[in-house]
Amino acid sequence: MRDWLNIIGSVNRPVLGEEIPILIFRAFRIYSGEYLKDLMGEKGAVVLFQNAGRELGKELGERLKDDDLNRYIDNVQTFVKDSKIGLLAVEEIDQKRAVLKLDECITCAGMPNIGARICHFETGFVAGVFEAFLGNKVKAVETKCNAMGEGTCEVTVDL
Ligand SMILES: [Zn+2]
Repeated sequence: MRDWLNIIGSVNRPVLGEEIPILIFRAFRIYSGEYLKDLMGEKGAVVLFQNAGRELGKELGERLKDDDLNRYIDNVQTFVKDSKIGLLAVEEIDQKRAVLKLDECITCAGMPNIGARICHFETGFVAGVFEAFLGNKVKAVETKCNAMGEGTCEVTVDL
């Protein structure tokens, strides 16, 4: 994939600056997602968003890499907080699986219960972060979401 992070990281908005209202981020995200669902079906759209998130997670994971898993996760937590994606916390982790919570999730925090888990990009992102560390593919599922009325966003990764 092209070096998109460097390409899109170059911003020239002397008047408007680098921040946008979160509503606008969510609108771009949700409208794209809904359109994709029309085009590719629910499953296809989920896979697409999850794989896109996975690519980003892998790329950022490479940049934040540390040989020590705890230090690596620390780096990721700091990045996720500083870039206001959310507050990432490890709920449990062992050889087999990791459960991570994303409080104040950029996509779903505060959303009413619409009966669906919608943070497929974030789910892929977490998977990609682990893939960068482990060097192999992992499976991740969103196991809680504010949009499902579950009070937080949570991702479970099979390691
Ligand atoms: Zn969510």
